[in-house]
Amino acid sequence: MGHSIAKVCVLGAGTMGAGIAAQVANAGVPVLLLDRTTDGPDRSIIARSALERLGKAEPAAFMSKAAARLVEVGNFDDDLGRVAECDWVIEAIVEKIEAKHALYARLEDVRRAGTAVSSNTSTIPLERLIEGRSEAFAQDFLITHFFNPPRYMRLIEVVSGARSNPDLVAAVSAFADQRLGKSVVACKDRPGFIANRVGTFWLQSAVNAAFDLGLSVEDADAIAGKPMGVPKTGIFGLVDLVGLDLMPYLKASLTASLPKDDPYQAIARDEPLILKMIADGYTGRKGKGGFYRIN
Ligand code: NAD
Repeated sequence: MGHSIAKVCVLGAGTMGAGIAAQVANAGVPVLLLDRTTDGPDRSIIARSALERLGKAEPAAFMSKAAARLVEVGNFDDDLGRVAECDWVIEAIVEKIEAKHALYARLEDVRRAGTAVSSNTSTIPLERLIEGRSEAFAQDFLITHFFNPPRYMRLIEVVSGARSNPDLVAAVSAFADQRLGKSVVACKDRPGFIANRVGTFWLQSAVNAAFDLGLSVEDADAIAGKPMGVPKTGIFGLVDLVGLDLMPYLKASLTASLPKDDPYQAIARDEPLILKMIADGYTGRKGKGGFYRIN
């Protein structure tokens, strides 16, 4: 029997989670968007303000006011039980395996068996994500790797594991294709899948070269812009879009999972300036700005 997707839950309302929620709502499908709980009168302020930030940064993220109304916000403590209302749960929290493991353990208790659960991880292999999970969870689990910004990037990488239920994978892939307008690429469960295996290497090499050559941000982006095919942002604009704080996690995750003699190991590094910017809150477009100011 086909698995129909009438309601979606997105866990994590960051750069990606908020954008994915908007994109699902644009397809006319109701979304529950949850993030961490805060003390104070609005315990769901993280998810709520993520949508406000998205609206400011990308006024066209929602296609209409009606679409925006399809997203309901909440928090992991008061609302996680409501994943039982949803047919597809998309996890888009921080790229740290311990955090994802902890959230999946909580999900086991509240979700409906047979509901698709997918991670938006950029680099963590599927089999590692489901370590410690039940057989039922493993069967319902897959990776759906959206690209940033979700409204405009057509590609989605879908990774299924040895135990993933092929009917669920097919249903999620069909939804991504037909309702979200994505080009679905089925990937093997390898570190970084396809796009980030290449893309992270490329981005890290470009950032290293800019620092080693002492290029200004403007010069580096002028070269990496139109001439090298990253027309809108250049390298540092792309780092701002991705989020500076994601860079060390991507590096840590890839260096841990790739073979010791992989060429990426030789170029992977944490740039001290980037670490300082993260510590000072300059995480890019989602923070106080990054290499470029935000208005
Ligand atoms: P983000 O930092 O913008 O948002 C992460 C969210 O996770 C935040 O809202 C935060 O409140 C929440 N969070 C932080 N620590 C947590 C914890 N311990 N437990 C539960 N929630 C926690 O991150 P993002 O850039 O949206 O990335 C989310 C996922 O999507 C990651 O797996 C990342 O690798 C992947 N991804 C990111 C991009 C990108 O360009 N930024 C692209 C594709 C995939």
